[in-house]
Amino acid sequence: MLTKRSSIDRVRPEAEILKEGAEWLKAGELVAFPTETVYGLGANALDAFACAKIFEAKGRPQDNPLIVHVCNRSMANRLVKDWTSAADLCVQHFWPGPLTLILPKTALVPDIVTAGLENVAIRMPSHPVALGLIKETGFPIAAPSANLSGKPSPTRGSHVWRDMKGKIPLILDAGACEVGVESTVLDVSGGVPTILRPGGITKEQLEEVLGEVRVDAPSENQIPRAPGMKYRHYAPQGELILVSGLRERVVQRMGQEIQKGHARLKRVGVLCTFESASFLHNWTPDLLFVLGSKDRPQEVASNLFEGLRLCDDRRMELILVEGIEEGGLGSAVMNRLEKAAGKRSQHI
Ligand code: AMP
Ligand code: MG
Repeated sequence: MLTKRSSIDRVRPEAEILKEGAEWLKAGELVAFPTETVYGLGANALDAFACAKIFEAKGRPQDNPLIVHVCNRSMANRLVKDWTSAADLCVQHFWPGPLTLILPKTALVPDIVTAGLENVAIRMPSHPVALGLIKETGFPIAAPSANLSGKPSPTRGSHVWRDMKGKIPLILDAGACEVGVESTVLDVSGGVPTILRPGGITKEQLEEVLGEVRVDAPSENQIPRAPGMKYRHYAPQGELILVSGLRERVVQRMGQEIQKGHARLKRVGVLCTFESASFLHNWTPDLLFVLGSKDRPQEVASNLFEGLRLCDDRRMELILVEGIEEGGLGSAVMNRLEKAAGKRSQHI
């Protein structure tokens, strides 16, 4: 399939380009588009055949449900059977924005979208291109991240091009995504609101509005409530070691690992904070990528997937990543990195 990549203005998206995207979606095809979190791979959420193409293009496991994107509350109302008061509060405070709500679905939502679950994941994005596209089609758009399954999520049009070229007819490219990590997934279907995946809206922000908020933290033999969380995700090709703790010690340990990697003739990439960069530079890694300042987790979040993907592009065989402090967006960043590292994460 021939893939077209159209530049689109992120603030005032050109009407004719949105229209072209909507035409493809109405024809049951897939369109990749930017959101404030990461790029999405969209299909008509009410068309099971169109949604099946998402799983095929991504190589996504069938048991991993899709997030449905809406552009207003009335569109959401058609998909949700029972709204809870917690859900209403979330809509008031955080929509449009990087918060996905888990709520009981109506019969309108095809089973393939929820992987057979009774609840649907639903979100109103704030990116003008995403909102404009949903409005133009007139139906909700199911969209997971527009990467091949298991790869780091795409936060630039070029990332989507790399993964989806030849598989979908259209990519809308509006440059870099602002948030850079995926939405927070929050179960508000009943009981204490529970974060199933940390993301763009922090636990602290949610607690301010909702009071008590739990985090789904399944132990090794338990199944996470967001099916996608059980997969090793966000992973670059090389082996990834996450090192966190006191900065002096982290820098020293990473230096040792660079030396060990080089002794084994491996190409070693380093992803670190601005504060550690000059120290790590002295150990001459094959790639040094600065994620941002340790004091600005937002910066680190928005550069994270670009850094991981660059390691793939430059064929790094060992990737050392400096962890950042938990809390706020830092928790979302560390969650992605821990998944990418698998068991290879060291806190020193
Ligand atoms: P992605 O769109 O690829 O960023 O992934 C969406 C995340 O939301 C995955 O971890 C899914 O498992 C989770 N999710 C989507 N729908 C549901 C649902 N109905 N119930 C629980 N988790 C869901
Ligand atoms: Mg994803």
